[in-house]
Amino acid sequence: MSEGASASVKLDAQGRIAEDLACIGCGYNLRTANPRGRCPECGTATPRTLWVARLRFCDPRWLRRIAKGGGYLIVGLATVLLGLLPLTFVQLPPILLLAAVIAVGAVTFLIGCFLITTHDPGQKPLSAFNILATLARAAMIIGIVGTLIAIAARRPTSPVDTENLAISSLWIGAIGVLGALAYTFQIVLRVQHPVLPWIIRGFGWVLSLTLLLLAVQSILMEYMAELSSYFNMMGWRTAGFYLELAYDYLHYDYPSAPWWMLLVLAILLEPLLVWFVIRVRDAGKRL
Ligand SMILES: [Zn+2]
Repeated sequence: MSEGASASVKLDAQGRIAEDLACIGCGYNLRTANPRGRCPECGTATPRTLWVARLRFCDPRWLRRIAKGGGYLIVGLATVLLGLLPLTFVQLPPILLLAAVIAVGAVTFLIGCFLITTHDPGQKPLSAFNILATLARAAMIIGIVGTLIAIAARRPTSPVDTENLAISSLWIGAIGVLGALAYTFQIVLRVQHPVLPWIIRGFGWVLSLTLLLLAVQSILMEYMAELSSYFNMMGWRTAGFYLELAYDYLHYDYPSAPWWMLLVLAILLEPLLVWFVIRVRDAGKRL
């Protein structure tokens, strides 16, 4: 705990804060205070101030927008889960109602993704940080526009292949949402907390693994016959065996495993986002 706290500000030989640092609760100068103690004026835990010591130099309008975007993400994700969980556990009859709840949640979540990918004016316009935000937004816009065109053109005589357009648009939009999430994680990593980077990295790895599993599953379901005959033709016996094994696992034994993993990750994301929005609000306070 003290290691991470001391990394963000200078400490003197006695381990007390050795620079001017306004308490995020009341603005009191915490110089000479114990980095693990509480503010002598308002009682706010000093680590809370230390966690956002660097984030507080960011543009306050940008911080407000990020906090607002984070709020939309929290409410949107919670609403999606509210509709999704009863649909998953018990096949309740009001499916239309639940679908509407999920749709409202998804739109709210998307608004959050757009707000949170606002460029940080404190970074160079062409920094990797801001480019990631632009790419995520572009992918989300292409996804939304493509889906709307597919819905509008949905007629049997339509000259557009609406089904393919809808599927590819949804994929591009999903990649954009992942980009927005990656951008959010980059902001979260500016909070100076000793354990947080490990949590974020762990989350990122499990999420990547889940998506990889999902991709492998859809490729196997679509092209298993072709892959299998190709492997036979090339005489790749061992590889063919593992291909069969993977297909059996993902197609017959645990077809919904990647979706369950995604659901668990979505539930775990919720407290992480709440924690993050509190930190951004702390950083944006003007005292
Ligand atoms: Zn205070």
